[in-house]
Amino acid sequence: MANHFQCTACGKCCYGQLPLTCKDAFANAERFPLCLVWTPLRYGSKDYPLVATLGTTIKLADRKELAVLIVPTAYLPSSFPCPALGEDNLCRIHINKPSRCKTMPFYPYREERYQAELLTPRPGWACDTSTAAPLVFQDKKIVFRDDFDHERRDLLAQVPLLRRYAEYMLKYSPSLVSSLIQAASKVKAGHVVTSLSSFLTATKNAEASHIAQLQLPILNTYVEQTAGDPQLTDFHKNYVNWSKEMAYLSQRRQ
Ligand code: SF4
Ligand code: SF4
Repeated sequence: MANHFQCTACGKCCYGQLPLTCKDAFANAERFPLCLVWTPLRYGSKDYPLVATLGTTIKLADRKELAVLIVPTAYLPSSFPCPALGEDNLCRIHINKPSRCKTMPFYPYREERYQAELLTPRPGWACDTSTAAPLVFQDKKIVFRDDFDHERRDLLAQVPLLRRYAEYMLKYSPSLVSSLIQAASKVKAGHVVTSLSSFLTATKNAEASHIAQLQLPILNTYVEQTAGDPQLTDFHKNYVNWSKEMAYLSQRRQ
């Protein structure tokens, strides 16, 4: 089985939440409103071993366990364009865009042999998957794999940091486990969202105050842009709360 793919730069996939490596999240702290998205997976799911490797596992009371991905994320409603998307639908930070965007449409949180499933464009996307487009996937392997390998390497390198964060959150926020169990019971993957400030605090980030100063204006922009829209109530509440947390953190001495 061979798959072809070419991006035609329609910009349609540059909307909504964007998963990032820690490195990319911090490098874009002045651009993206950041948070951590936790995605639990039940034992037996086909990507369980990989998710357990890239994320963490949580033991439950009934001797079951969950694997959980914890992903720094540019937190945007699905109708909102990425702040780096130009009016011409081109990326304004193309050379320095995050690993996630360079690896598109492949996704290193999923086993390589299943990547062909990601090559079917969503409705409205203008990706060229005809045989005229370059061959990108063959015999269950990615053909041009540098970006995929690079992103996977960064994800593996940040595992200890994210596990430290998970330990902290599970200790100080016990309701998180029940939220994750609830999210895992949904047919379509459920998520739990936690704030960047909790991550900076838990991991004792030496740049916390500076990162908070960068986050504050962008969070306030999204507070304004989501105000009064009943469809975006959850987003608005989160931006308001995180903005307060960042205001506090930005004043704190290291
Ligand atoms: S950084 Fe660029 S490529 Fe990535 S989502 Fe934003 S506009 Fe699109
Ligand atoms: S939807 Fe497809 S064609 Fe459009 S920007 Fe994304 S990858 Fe490129």
